[in-house]
Amino acid sequence: MGQQRILVLGAGISGLSYAWYLKKHHASAQITLLEKTERLGGWIDTDHNQGFHFEKGPRAFKAAKSSSILELVKELHLENEMVWTEEKKLDRYLWFQEKLHCLPQGLFSFLCSTVTRPFVKALLTEWSKPKFHGDETVWEFACRRFSKEVASRFFDPLVVGIFGGDARQISIVSCFPKLKEWEEKEGSVTRGMLRALKSKRNQPKFSEHVPHLPLSAFYSFRSGMQTLVDGLAKQLNAEIVTRAEALQIERQGAEWIVHSTQGIRVADHLCFALPAAETARLLKPLVPDLAQELEQIVSLGFAIINVGYNDSVLPLQGFGYLTQSGANEEVLGSVFDSSVFPEQRKTAQETRLTIKLKDCGQKEEEAIQSALNGARRHLNITAQPDAIAFKRASHAIPQYGVCHLEKMARVQEALTERLPTCSLVGNYLSGVAVDQCIAHSKRVAELH
Ligand SMILES: Cc1cc2nc3c(=O)[nH]c(=O)nc-3n(C[C@H](O)[C@H](O)[C@H](O)COP(=O)(O)OP(=O)(O)OC[C@H]3O[C@@H](n4cnc5c(N)ncnc54)[C@H](O)[C@@H]3O)c2cc1C
Repeated sequence: MGQQRILVLGAGISGLSYAWYLKKHHASAQITLLEKTERLGGWIDTDHNQGFHFEKGPRAFKAAKSSSILELVKELHLENEMVWTEEKKLDRYLWFQEKLHCLPQGLFSFLCSTVTRPFVKALLTEWSKPKFHGDETVWEFACRRFSKEVASRFFDPLVVGIFGGDARQISIVSCFPKLKEWEEKEGSVTRGMLRALKSKRNQPKFSEHVPHLPLSAFYSFRSGMQTLVDGLAKQLNAEIVTRAEALQIERQGAEWIVHSTQGIRVADHLCFALPAAETARLLKPLVPDLAQELEQIVSLGFAIINVGYNDSVLPLQGFGYLTQSGANEEVLGSVFDSSVFPEQRKTAQETRLTIKLKDCGQKEEEAIQSALNGARRHLNITAQPDAIAFKRASHAIPQYGVCHLEKMARVQEALTERLPTCSLVGNYLSGVAVDQCIAHSKRVAELH
């Protein structure tokens, strides 16, 4: 590649990890990242401004499902910054029928609990249901293989909690690929799940990248998720320009000309590490048909309210709870942050919660009031918080509709054919999870 000039638009985790892997394989490349805001990391955002450890985006990852993050942790030598806990120690709750119900974790409690009874009933007949090939919505899949009750009690809150979306719109293949794979390969989810449980016994117990970390762990970093972003930014041998919004792009011969709020930049290769809508806006003059495909991706958001108390006010311990969309609750769910990683507390008594609401353009004060009402109703917390932070994560999560992955594969293929010196990375392409974003960026960087 020689002294190629590479311009990366956007310094969220996708842009930063793309630059990291590109530099690893092409040490002489001159890489510049242009970031619109004054900070790096995009949706990854740790805030210590009020004396509490607040995470406004992702807060923890499952070790078994994040090998790309762990590989990066190892490469950046961040192992000693990690904090972790055994996932099974963290109870999860579901708010339904006006009560918080603890979700069973073991097989015995799963079989006996009143909460999971509809699931147990459905599993008894699931194995005999006919297979369906191809993609469909999470709702259709759950109703077809299990029951409507299972779809609304379990799948609906999961989709709301993870994707901020609607199980009736979101694709099973994109969002829960394992379940679909079990149906297609084993003929039934139950059979696939049992086989997976059996084969787990022979699988490694610790991460291949961070050998002291059990795969059953749930981890973060002592100073929060921003550690990963700061580690990348510090060790990345590249120019990073903040407050540099890309406004317009054009081609002149073999070169890319990018007009930004910090002047004009020229590059041999351009990587878009931006949200889908922003990528579409910039690409529209060059490839209007492909830009239109990206424009059609709907992204939904959350209003995130972090609350901190100097006292111990939480009546429960565990990871947190979710609500069902049918319950018409303003609160979508809440994470009991202070209960998850004690290392991140400044005192043993402090309580921290992150409360998620649907982003419906509500005013900040209204959102905070709704969050506190939820804490009162669901958790019986009446005390006034000592610190509150609010963030509107608008259009943060792209909704992967039926056949979304196929569509994105087609768009990327066509773009490579028509604009070979242009790449796409970001959370609308191969999965919204941070681990999926990093894995995608690595794959794309390695294609150079
Ligand atoms: C509240 C919340 C909770 C989440 N929780 C989890 C979780 O628990 N686990 C998990 O795996 N994932 C989680 N996610 C999802 C995950 O955080 C994101 O999908 C991921 O961080 C997206 O990274 P990205 O770099 O692709 O995009 P972004 O983070 O959106 O980064 C894009 C960057 O581009 C910049 N930009 C935009 N326009 C321009 C422009 N014109 N010029 C220059 N720069 C521009 C933006 O400022 C931003 O910094 C969560 C997301 C949110 C919002």
